[in-house]
Amino acid sequence: MTADLTAEQVAHCRQVLAEHTVRPGAKGCPVCGVIRCPDWTDAFDKLAVAGQTMAAEPPPWQLFRPGRRPGTPGTAG
Ligand SMILES: [Zn+2]
Repeated sequence: MTADLTAEQVAHCRQVLAEHTVRPGAKGCPVCGVIRCPDWTDAFDKLAVAGQTMAAEPPPWQLFRPGRRPGTPGTAG
């Protein structure tokens, strides 16, 4: 099953995810008031099926770390 999304749909889904994400300390979606609300789940599923990332930016674990320089003494091979 293919579920290609247009750039507009992808942007919309990401916006929904951002708006319906449960904030730390909150007891549910700030819009719907429940955990894993239908809007959030629907947007998440659409992005996942389409193979899209959940945000426009790359995940934090892929970000370049400015604190580590290449060629650090002791680790170079
Ligand atoms: Zn919601």
